[in-house]
Amino acid sequence: MTTGPHIPQERKLVTAIPGPKSQELIKRRSDAVSAALGMAIPVVVEKAGGGVIVDVDGNSIIDMGAGIAVVNVGNSADRVVKNVQEQVSAFTHTCFMIAPYMGYIEVCEALNRLTPGTHKKKSALFNSGAEAVENAVKIARNFTKRQAVVVFEHGYHGRTNLTMAMTAKNMPYKEGFGPFTPEVYRMPMAYPYRCDSCSGSCKQSVLETVLHKIEKEIGAHNVACIVIEPIMGEGGFIVPCEGFLPGLAKFCSENGILFVADEVQTGFARTGAMFASEHEGIVPDLITTAKGIAGGLPLAAVTGRADVMDAVHLSGLGGTYGGSPIACAAALGAIATIEEEKLVDRANVIGKIMTDALHEMKQKYPIIGDVRGRGAMQAIELVLPGTKEPNSAALASAIKYCQQKGVLILSAGTYGNVIRLLPPLVMPEHLLKEALEILDEALAQA
Ligand SMILES: *Cc1c(COP(=O)(O)O)cnc(C)c1O
Repeated sequence: MTTGPHIPQERKLVTAIPGPKSQELIKRRSDAVSAALGMAIPVVVEKAGGGVIVDVDGNSIIDMGAGIAVVNVGNSADRVVKNVQEQVSAFTHTCFMIAPYMGYIEVCEALNRLTPGTHKKKSALFNSGAEAVENAVKIARNFTKRQAVVVFEHGYHGRTNLTMAMTAKNMPYKEGFGPFTPEVYRMPMAYPYRCDSCSGSCKQSVLETVLHKIEKEIGAHNVACIVIEPIMGEGGFIVPCEGFLPGLAKFCSENGILFVADEVQTGFARTGAMFASEHEGIVPDLITTAKGIAGGLPLAAVTGRADVMDAVHLSGLGGTYGGSPIACAAALGAIATIEEEKLVDRANVIGKIMTDALHEMKQKYPIIGDVRGRGAMQAIELVLPGTKEPNSAALASAIKYCQQKGVLILSAGTYGNVIRLLPPLVMPEHLLKEALEILDEALAQA
């Protein structure tokens, strides 16, 4: 079985963006939906699949965001649809803590098999990335009998109270939502483009500063876990200098601290490996996953060392909906798609096409300060020419231009100046190239 998108794989504009029907429905949105929810593109979706989103006016838009790295296997992927349909008609909910079912167990088996490391692992399932991160911290605190949680500048971990505290950026995630939970300590991040001291290798400098601060300001023996995204997602696709992650992992193992990789955005083939930790041979004690896990259904997981996962007392973990049978059926479909369609390899092919095009654009346009990422998770950081001053005006103009031409592109970054590209891994090559050509035009006029 192949994942055949059931709608034409083309960019096609039949109205301006947004068209009249979308405009009408967006008015209803404004009337009914809290004004606190953002909207990257002002169109209402009718269907989506492969590399496109089709709106209610009939415009077919190239999707370079995959719903924020969620539909890595594409929208309504065949195996996901089939599994979900079968599951919905068999049963919809029993609550795994009341009466277990096989889908949950099979997803845990798959995660234990696919995540880095050959040691004995176990998993627990939840509903969202934030919930997975919260649970990883609960497990780490319970196992270590310590309280401090170490996180990093530019990090993003979610919108619940604990994960807001762990998230670096104030606007829009934290503004006015405090007080935040204590015992969360933020450390400097190795950010090669904006780091004067380390210039690409972090054996010294930032890593040393972080370890020194942990020793002196917290006390390593008080730290339950270090939580870090192997590539910062919302923070702007920051790939830390080589050696930074292994250095942290080594410090953790020497000090009885759990190393938690938040792979909610980087997981499931996105970066050209099943998990981004693999790029530097990291074996996390715990790993959190969500976004790409289930082809769009809400599911998240904590996977890790069996001794750690088993240390929590009976009924200490759980939740009404966590690991819903429908989401688990979807996850098994998504994971089968990733493996059978070799989407890890596809992510590398897509990544190569994107980096080639982006480096070419960098030669032409001095507003591109940096090109970075791994696999199908690539970004450009926009600056004022000749400086490293963030250029958020150019970003807004480029994104708007792309939208008007029928290409959906997402922004990111602490300074709001990063264009991030994370297409579905089933994106047809002709559409990917077309989207990159339009991005090129967008940057030319920005
Ligand atoms: C999106 C994200 C989260 C939060 O996931 P939700 O499902 O939105 O709660 C946590 N960590 C990372 C790295 C993310 O990208």
